[in-house]
Amino acid sequence: MEETLDRPVAKKAALIAGGPIKVGPGIRLPFHPSKSTAGPGAGSASIVLSFGGLRVKKGISRETGEFELIQKEKDFELLRNGRPFISEVRIEPTIFHSPEQAFFNLGTDCIYDCKFCATGKLDRHSKKNLDLDRIVELVIQSSRRNDFKAVAFTSAVVGSPSATVKRLAYVICRVREELDPSIPIGVEPYVESFDDIDRLKAAGADEIKINIETFDRDIFRKVCGKRDFDWLLRAIKYAVGTFGAGRVCSNIIVGLGETDQNVIDGVDYLAKLGCLATLRPLRINDANREALEDSLGPLEQIPPGRILRLAEEQRSIFELYGLDPTSFKTMCHACTCCDIVPFRDI
Ligand code: SF4
Ligand code: SF4
Repeated sequence: MEETLDRPVAKKAALIAGGPIKVGPGIRLPFHPSKSTAGPGAGSASIVLSFGGLRVKKGISRETGEFELIQKEKDFELLRNGRPFISEVRIEPTIFHSPEQAFFNLGTDCIYDCKFCATGKLDRHSKKNLDLDRIVELVIQSSRRNDFKAVAFTSAVVGSPSATVKRLAYVICRVREELDPSIPIGVEPYVESFDDIDRLKAAGADEIKINIETFDRDIFRKVCGKRDFDWLLRAIKYAVGTFGAGRVCSNIIVGLGETDQNVIDGVDYLAKLGCLATLRPLRINDANREALEDSLGPLEQIPPGRILRLAEEQRSIFELYGLDPTSFKTMCHACTCCDIVPFRDI
């Protein structure tokens, strides 16, 4: 049975699965749109909407969109296909990339070529190649904001995994020296040895995200052909031993042609290790459509009902293993903008 759109979480799922938001030229946004170089919205201008205690980050367009933002006195209203959809919407500020977090991508020129990923395909104007010390400076400046809660770093694999891990460790170490020790730091690396994981922990990271991307080995081979599935599982297991259960997470992308059972098996396998999967609905866009369809054939946007169904299953699995994503203080389980997060959203 198709989910009705009464619940805020169902509206969030419809937004995640749906097209962009039209923000007409007359609308005055209270904050500048965020332009990210990583994550599902890489390359496009996005805003963070909050409603009913939930938040979602969406790409915007000045001309057209499945959704449309309408200005009310102080707040906003959202239409879907011209009809009322959410009556009270606020726009939330991001710090860097995410609300309440200074989340930086250190590099975009990746030696891998994952077919779903827009990071390496950004045009030269969308790439932000900031110097590492400048990034540290920006984190320290942003830590003076009232809404600042956490720091996170990611990076495409520039040169080699270990060279990238060294850059990540450098910024973590510098930020750790400068900031209050209670500020959590998250890191999302591609690692090639257990030493890489130890190095990031020793530098001062509290939480780590090592992405398995899909639990379907055949799809993994087609979309992440230059990466090693079995090594990633070993790395995740080692990371749980180093960082602790509940401090390791991993993206499983949903919508690459895998079955629901495969996604559930992946969540369960990782949970057994002490790692919390993030179920990340695939966003098909101009940057990744051709590469994805060449590898996997025609793909359809994931229906909102499937996003919700899988999030419910994910929640039950987390409950079974005593895991709770609200323990995360950094990255996607804390941000919640791109996924339905068990115990926060559902
Ligand atoms: S490793 Fe894959 S997902 Fe990560 S930045 Fe490189 S191409 Fe993108
Ligand atoms: S959920 Fe993750 S990818 Fe999405 S905006 Fe937040 S931190 Fe970025």
